[in-house]
Amino acid sequence: MRLQGKNIIVTGGASGIGLASVERCLQEGASVVIADLEDSEGKAQAAQLDDRYDGRCLFQAVDVTNTAQVDRLFTDTAAELGSVEAVFNNAGIGGICPSDELSDEEYLKVIDINLNGVFRVARAALRVMYCQGGGSIVNCASILGVFGQSQTAAYTAAKGGVVNMTRTLAIEAAPKGVRVNAIGPGYIDTPLLEALDDDMLQGLIGLHPIGRLGRPEEIANAFLFLASDEASFVTGAHLLVDGGFTAGKS
Ligand code: NDP
Repeated sequence: MRLQGKNIIVTGGASGIGLASVERCLQEGASVVIADLEDSEGKAQAAQLDDRYDGRCLFQAVDVTNTAQVDRLFTDTAAELGSVEAVFNNAGIGGICPSDELSDEEYLKVIDINLNGVFRVARAALRVMYCQGGGSIVNCASILGVFGQSQTAAYTAAKGGVVNMTRTLAIEAAPKGVRVNAIGPGYIDTPLLEALDDDMLQGLIGLHPIGRLGRPEEIANAFLFLASDEASFVTGAHLLVDGGFTAGKS
């Protein structure tokens, strides 16, 4: 059991990569809080997983654009479970739109969830983790945090920001025993890709030398490693888990 006794929060834990990560952590002995929007499947998912994993899965309704809710997530979890050893800062949305047609509203929405939300969650995690003397924060970035792609100006700006903010937080938090890393998934088969048509999906598959999209479990395994003590000397990293997508680019 690689996470035995650890308490872990997963934002956006009701779906896709987050949900797979929640289950992977439960399999490895952790207690897990699914933090997701009130109207998500999170409450039902948590109830089902709680039954299957000895009462170790909770749900808390959180919108990562709401500072008070994010702060409460961490203080509530620390009060209820006693500590927070790791967080997967994973909540996010997609956004495809030609830049000349992108409204302020859409641009700012993507930035507020995918970048500002990551900061709000990391800040609340640091406060709890500094008090307890350690922890691991894992931010969900993307291959689009290091490479551009047409029609994704807000998304790439947010993910690029997450990659570099991760480095800064890692430097700042290291002396206090907190590791901060990012994961950069390639294209992963989750509901986030539902907006893409078949031709687009086939095109994306062709960009991965492994010849397929990634599975949510494959990102969950990377999170498991970074959350665990096996990664005790890893901080400030952006771990690309991308089927070779970025290997030929420089
Ligand atoms: P999903 O849409 O399956 O899951 C994202 C979850 O985040 C959903 O449950 C969603 O709720 C929730 N969420 C959205 N907005 C908020 C909010 N404001 N506060 C709290 N929760 C919120 O997507 P993925 O699993 O694919 O994505 C997870 C992360 O991985 C994201 O950060 C994404 O950018 C990143 N990523 C994904 C890739 C992919 O190809 N799938 C590639 C690279 C990175 P709801 O469903 O109600 O919106």
